[in-house]
Amino acid sequence: MSLTAAEALARSAPPAVARQDAVDPLAPFRQRFFLPGSRIYLDGNSLGALPRETPERLQRVAREEWGEDLIASWNVHRWIHRPLEVGDKIGRLLGAAPGQTAVADSISVNLFKALAGALELRPGRKVILSEPASFPTDLYIAQGLLRLLNQSGQGRTGDEDYRLKTISREEIPAFLETRGEDVAVLHLSHVDFRSGEILDLAGLTAAAHRAGALALWDLAHSAGVLPLALDQDGADFAVGCGYKYLNGGPGSPAFLYVAERHHQTFLQPLQGWLGHASPFDFDTEYRPAPGIARVLCGTPPILSLAALEVGIDLALEADLHLVREKSLALGQLFEDLALQLGARHGLESASPPAPHRGSQVSLRHPHAFPIVQALIHHGVTPDFREPDILRFGFAPLYLSYHEVWAAAQVLGELLESGAWDREEFRVRGVVT
Ligand SMILES: *Cc1c(COP(=O)(O)O)cnc(C)c1O
Repeated sequence: MSLTAAEALARSAPPAVARQDAVDPLAPFRQRFFLPGSRIYLDGNSLGALPRETPERLQRVAREEWGEDLIASWNVHRWIHRPLEVGDKIGRLLGAAPGQTAVADSISVNLFKALAGALELRPGRKVILSEPASFPTDLYIAQGLLRLLNQSGQGRTGDEDYRLKTISREEIPAFLETRGEDVAVLHLSHVDFRSGEILDLAGLTAAAHRAGALALWDLAHSAGVLPLALDQDGADFAVGCGYKYLNGGPGSPAFLYVAERHHQTFLQPLQGWLGHASPFDFDTEYRPAPGIARVLCGTPPILSLAALEVGIDLALEADLHLVREKSLALGQLFEDLALQLGARHGLESASPPAPHRGSQVSLRHPHAFPIVQALIHHGVTPDFREPDILRFGFAPLYLSYHEVWAAAQVLGELLESGAWDREEFRVRGVVT
């Protein structure tokens, strides 16, 4: 056994690191989360930690609301209003005025709605513009939507089929400028899930608009850790999930933002009854609800929404600029130490320098997979991303500088001892 997280945590960190913890204004948030004591969790970017209040809140909603008040809870406890009320709270984290953000479904499903709606808002334009480095679900959903549109013949009323064009992010501005006339929507992630690189949301949105296209942003790795200004930056649509930095729990519902200027004209194809103007009229014809409510489809997951709200309230309590500052400092501390200890063992940086990265540091190593498994075995949890990325996420509300320092020691000693090089660390689970 090489150095474990528990052993590394028991060592005292250098005074400079201890000082960072001593003056950390976000340190009190740590006790608001449940975390296993001997594990250093650097994967809050995949599944955020459990807020201490969440089990209690779930218990209350289940026992008192569901248990006692049963169906009356839709009115009495405002269950029916929860998707937009919690959506407005998320809006505050996104720089979005109220009435533009709803909680619903997953990112994947919301992408389908937003992309379909965007194509309908730009009739005659046939291209969804994205990049090959996008998160796979973003590309898969676009591909599925296009298949549906083109098969149903809608794409054939004019000359050409709808298509997904993917080019590198560096080429996007020039493409929009010279060949943007056929682009309906620019669809990108704000933070690259592999490298952590932050894309220029305001600049690329403006470039899309100059070409007459709309801009749709995936904020999976931004919401809750990066200050955002969706309204000011002119974004048309945005999606994000609740279970990463918002700490809403596994399977937490996602959010969808649609800028108010589109509310009159935006339609989406998953027009379920809860997006109807008057669901309880039980009309046979769909009439879209006014405002953001039209993005809703079916019955909201009330228990999951209750858990999500706890995470969002915690995020709203923290000053997002302090969160960002700490996130960069944690990442810098980790990257400097990891490279200092690991460079001669083949470890390289795979993230752009601060401040051009989100709340993560990615490192590259030819044996990234077994090294990540060995880290997990030794009490440090990052994750692995194909083909050779060790990805370390830093959730500033519940991580200390001491932990980050200790995690780097564990990594350094693993590389030094070669203890990662064992058959058991090469076994792959379904989820990496
Ligand atoms: C995590 C993540 C998703 C996940 O989508 P779901 O539909 O919630 O499973 C989508 N996009 C990006 C960029 C992600 O990082």
